[in-house]
Amino acid sequence: MAKFILLMFICYHCGLDPVFGLLSKRNVSSESLSSLNQEASEGFLWNNIRLPQSVIPLEYDIFLHPNLTEARFSGKVEIKCVIRETTNFVVLHSKDLVISQTTLTTIPSNEQKEVRMQMKNDTDQLFLIMEDAIPKDAEILITIVFDGILGINGDGFYLSEFFTSNKSSRYLASTQFEPTSARKAFPCFDEPALKANFSMSIVREKKHISLFNMPRVDSIPRKNNLVLDTFQQSVKMSTYLVAFAVGEYKGKSKLTKSGVNMTVFYDRTSLMETVDFSLDAGGTILDYFNTLFEVSYPLPNLDMIAVPYHKAAAMENWGLITYRKPYLVIPINSGYRWKYRAVSVIAHEIAHQWFGNIVTMQWWDDLWLNEGVASFMQYLGLQAFDNDWSMKNFFTEKINSMMSEDFTNSRALNQPVAVPDFSIFNGVTYAKGASIVRMVRGLLGEKAFMNGIKTYLNQNKYSNVVSDDLWQALSNSSDDGIDLKAVMSIWMGERAYPLVTVRRNHSEIQISQEPFILKNNTTSRTTPIWTIPFQYGILDQQGHFSRKMFLLREETATIKISGHFKLVKGNYRDDGYYRVNYDPESWKAITDQLMTNHEIFSPGERAHLLNDAVSIFARTKPLNMSVVMDLLNYMEKETDFLPWFSASHSFGILIKLRLKDIKPEVKVLMQKFATVATKALELIENQLQAKENNKGYKDAMKEYMVNLIRRINSRVSDSSPSTLRPSTDKFTQKMD
Ligand SMILES: [Zn+2]
Repeated sequence: MAKFILLMFICYHCGLDPVFGLLSKRNVSSESLSSLNQEASEGFLWNNIRLPQSVIPLEYDIFLHPNLTEARFSGKVEIKCVIRETTNFVVLHSKDLVISQTTLTTIPSNEQKEVRMQMKNDTDQLFLIMEDAIPKDAEILITIVFDGILGINGDGFYLSEFFTSNKSSRYLASTQFEPTSARKAFPCFDEPALKANFSMSIVREKKHISLFNMPRVDSIPRKNNLVLDTFQQSVKMSTYLVAFAVGEYKGKSKLTKSGVNMTVFYDRTSLMETVDFSLDAGGTILDYFNTLFEVSYPLPNLDMIAVPYHKAAAMENWGLITYRKPYLVIPINSGYRWKYRAVSVIAHEIAHQWFGNIVTMQWWDDLWLNEGVASFMQYLGLQAFDNDWSMKNFFTEKINSMMSEDFTNSRALNQPVAVPDFSIFNGVTYAKGASIVRMVRGLLGEKAFMNGIKTYLNQNKYSNVVSDDLWQALSNSSDDGIDLKAVMSIWMGERAYPLVTVRRNHSEIQISQEPFILKNNTTSRTTPIWTIPFQYGILDQQGHFSRKMFLLREETATIKISGHFKLVKGNYRDDGYYRVNYDPESWKAITDQLMTNHEIFSPGERAHLLNDAVSIFARTKPLNMSVVMDLLNYMEKETDFLPWFSASHSFGILIKLRLKDIKPEVKVLMQKFATVATKALELIENQLQAKENNKGYKDAMKEYMVNLIRRINSRVSDSSPSTLRPSTDKFTQKMD
């Protein structure tokens, strides 16, 4: 799922509110329905929020008849299960459904068992209790007939409204099941590890289409202008990836090079929009991943549908990805930023078809295996679609994650989840997860990393994994026998990240680590020692960088460097999820080099040099402001996006900490930001007039710089010491 998107040029938070004129007037209540099934509290045979492992689902056969006009649906589900341990009860999930009939028969004897039903509403658990126990290894068929309402809250099986060109209202019924809302559409074993094959039949009105994860195989007319569609059985998958949709939609298809039938479905309400762009991007990225991962996308189709109301940006349902409309149906003549945004989301969801769908986390504790890995792979997909949208832009992901960790009590990547809800889909899961993957790739090297990824996918196809499965596969592919489980344990279990300090002493460098804490926002903290893949560059007297890797396992270490060298640059190639500070002489060597030839450092490196310097300056006294001022000097020549994105974030740190109000010199620093940004803008405008390559990018860059300068200027002039708020004193104490 794309919860929110950290994107080039802006952080985009969709604020698309649905217009539910008619729906809001309908007086329907799901609570009143579910309460009908609640039996008097009499104790339960199973008291655990997780399902027992005694009964395992194998196949679902679902029948649904949604009525979009009356906002309700009726259905029947048949679930074939195997008994793993002798038991006299079955526990599965159901929420907000009215169950009218339940039967349980043994297979193949077809013997019907007496079943008593009990509902535990606080855990959404439906108990089917039998008189006699069913023995281990037996197979059973559970049949449940039910009714439900089509909600309007964007989860479960729900309605969203759109308007035709003549302003008349229409509805789409579609699904959003992740993490735990499949149980609102049909009774099921709603845990990610309980994978099964799903078959589907849907009754629809003739004017509608219906969609499921798999292609339709048959359509049979029924009376009253209705049609019964049936679909191919799905591959083995988790319940949260099941999806279906019914509405007055159209589709446009193309066959990708790898033979997958890709279709974009949309409501054709505006002629000024196109799906060609997203179809093209989707096809290119799917083909690229198919080749890269060496595990074929296993379905014959990949449908992508624009949904009028979507809680997230998009959802990766296998073979039927749902999107907020602006990411899929794109106005003709859309600019660079809009297209980048859309392709980022498309690449993320298609990456999930492997990371999440083919291989799924065992439980929601390891959600980062879905979201972090997909967020990393989306950058490879972006680059495959447009080479200018290269991996270097990943810096934006990392810097946003670090800032989130600096300012909030974020969760660790691996943290127990009892009840999964939308809050687990936070920025750390996505952006820190992706940053950790990128750091591991830097440690192993690209070839060994991709080999490990292919092994991970192949070994765990249609199955479930925990973090250690990924580390094991990657360790096995490592040329140096690196034990990634040990290396990554602190990164997974701790929130925050380290600061590495580099001190040069003639021909050796001393490095040390400590947790980077910008603001003391936790009451108690441990002092973890990370195992840090410290990648560094040594610039020799001839102006050539050589790349080195050192695994810093202790608090401090000394590295001997052979030969004379001009400077040492930590976090070389910008792969690491840590900040770097230097002794004053090393900072000076770096700033002198930036003034002489800044392009000797990559844009990502220039970006993190500035962000590290400002963050360290904002946090503590040791870094003199002159270091930051010297770094800023070179930026009047800077026309690349990443260093300016970094400057904007750095500026944001100063604003957030309200340092301008506390330290007078910070106002001078911010004025300097504005001055160098104005000079850089002149350069960018000159490049635009010279019509250099990539005009769309330069245009977007100009717009970005104009906004940045406007923001800085307004912040520099908006207050004086007399406007300080009382809380400032607290900050002063903390900062000093
Ligand atoms: Zn996702």
